[in-house]
Amino acid sequence: MIVFDLRCIEGGEVFEGWFSSTSDYQGQLERGLVQCPVCGSAQVEKAPMAPRVGRSTAAEDGVRAKLAEMAAIQQKLLSNSEYVGEQLPETARAMHLGEVEKKAVHGQASVAEAKALIDEGVPIMPLPLPIVPPGQVN
Ligand SMILES: [Zn+2]
Repeated sequence: MIVFDLRCIEGGEVFEGWFSSTSDYQGQLERGLVQCPVCGSAQVEKAPMAPRVGRSTAAEDGVRAKLAEMAAIQQKLLSNSEYVGEQLPETARAMHLGEVEKKAVHGQASVAEAKALIDEGVPIMPLPLPIVPPGQVN
């Protein structure tokens, strides 16, 4: 698929059109099938922009790969950690005070709660990625 930036000659609206090829675009244009989505005019031309091929760029692929890598690392970190959800601040504080046995836990805390814990010397750290609570994974 190829996506072209198209421009309505009458109204000047710019919109995207998807075509299987440049000749497909030409054919549809000649038959008046390419229409402005705003005013319905078939007087349409290619906007003065380079056509983009309908796939992600190398930069986008790179970001996606990095995120997948981080997600995998986080998954590993959390495999030995117990999910405590919104009980995280209380649980972390109780472990710090020796009220309960220490173990690796993760869950949610607000920025204010996290700051308070750090101020109290409770060893916590933010996760690089948001987590999906167990039971909500598709
Ligand atoms: Zn138009």
